[in-house]
Amino acid sequence: MIQEIKEIRRVKIDKNSILFKLWKSFVIFAGLILISIWLFQTVFLSSFYETMKIREVTKVGNELRSEYNSEDFETKLSNYANTKGLEIKVLDENGAWVFPLRLFDEFVERPRMIWENFDKFFGSLKRDNRTYKIYTVRYENLKDPSIIYAGYLGNTDGEDYYLYINSVLKPVDATVDVIRRILIIISLLALIFASITAYFVSRRLSRPLVRMSNTAKELAKGDYKVQFRKGEYTEIDDLSNTLNYAKNELTKTIEMRKDLVANVSHDLKTPLTVIKSYGEMIRDISGPNETLRNKHLETIISEADNLTALVNDLLDLSKIESNLEEIKKEEFDLEDSVHEVLDRFKINKNYSDYSFVIDSRGDTRILGDRSKINQVIYNLINNAINYSPVNKEIKLVIRGDEEKTEFHCIDRGIGIKEEDIKGIWDRFYRVRNNHTRPEIGTGLGLYIVKTIMELHGYEYGVHSKINEGSDFYFIGSK
Ligand code: ADP
Repeated sequence: MIQEIKEIRRVKIDKNSILFKLWKSFVIFAGLILISIWLFQTVFLSSFYETMKIREVTKVGNELRSEYNSEDFETKLSNYANTKGLEIKVLDENGAWVFPLRLFDEFVERPRMIWENFDKFFGSLKRDNRTYKIYTVRYENLKDPSIIYAGYLGNTDGEDYYLYINSVLKPVDATVDVIRRILIIISLLALIFASITAYFVSRRLSRPLVRMSNTAKELAKGDYKVQFRKGEYTEIDDLSNTLNYAKNELTKTIEMRKDLVANVSHDLKTPLTVIKSYGEMIRDISGPNETLRNKHLETIISEADNLTALVNDLLDLSKIESNLEEIKKEEFDLEDSVHEVLDRFKINKNYSDYSFVIDSRGDTRILGDRSKINQVIYNLINNAINYSPVNKEIKLVIRGDEEKTEFHCIDRGIGIKEEDIKGIWDRFYRVRNNHTRPEIGTGLGLYIVKTIMELHGYEYGVHSKINEGSDFYFIGSK
């Protein structure tokens, strides 16, 4: 039963598909053209045809009148009558037929036109001083209207002669009927052609889209090597470029996540191992020996600090990354911020042998997210401390003018090699050979700085020389 329902659904037309929409447009287009033709033929064709007929009859009439005196006038009359399907008569002034004459007409009384009609058609010519007139008449015995040409031929032997041409408008209706039939056939053909064209065009149009949708499914399954292929159209090319770009970014993020997990697990594991083994050492060896025990405990505390630093950095990072949009800019004094941050270091007796010098000049206000800028200053000072093992002098320079405020954190520490400078802003990057095992830092500090700076749109950077020291700076706007 379920199977059956599925089958039936598949046959149902998808009204949102390209095929259906194209087909609809084609049919509407063909329909509009056909309706225009129908309208034209029903509304205009009859009158158009009548005008044509009048013109033709007038032409024949005028030509014949000009030939009246020629010798083969009668032959011409017969020719026109035969070839154009017209009823042509020549009448004398009494309305009697002069042409065409049937075999015995010479001997019996010649047929004549009803006087009323004769007077209506020809009598009025003289009265109105005209050479010819055109009438549209509906004779009682004929079902179709006629076009009558009534013309004056001339005077021969003192008698006036007249030309009468009658063209029945029957062909118009006949033609309209034929056209109507043709149109029905054309309509059907148009429908068939529209369907066929719609089918092929839509297939061509949708093919690259279907292909892309399949590729996207592959991607969703976790195959990040897939490539969105370009199609036959600019729009499709644009779409595949965008999708490829999105795919690359996605891949990068996924790679980064993997790295993050790997790095974090490693960085968590190392201190934990140390803590565990020192804990065991205290239990098994140094327990009663106070000096040794304290030494071991110091190591445990220091490793616990490392762990705390790592967890804090990770929390900062996730906070920054999760609310990328939320930069709450306000105007504040950068010098105040530097003091605030420094106070946090000063209360830690580990840093008591460091000297901090603040050199502040000008208008030191700045426009930015205060807590995030504080974080940047903290990270930069923290690095300056961490990487200045001997010369423990750290200079904090603030320079402000009308447009901007600069901050420099200058140390005389170990410095950075030129080739390393590019990498230090990356996540988890640590300059090698700094330490046998990095006791300080997580490799996230400068990455956090970079992210915050980019969110603010501030210029930032570092000038550094190996074994001489570093100058980390940023330039904030007002
Ligand atoms: P970490 O937590 O390892 O300090 P950071 O992202 O803060 O990570 O810094 C990345 C690397 O840049 C550090 O490992 C260090 O090698 C180098 N570095 C950062 N600041 C300084 C500095 N003031 N002097 C020398 N090297 C530095």
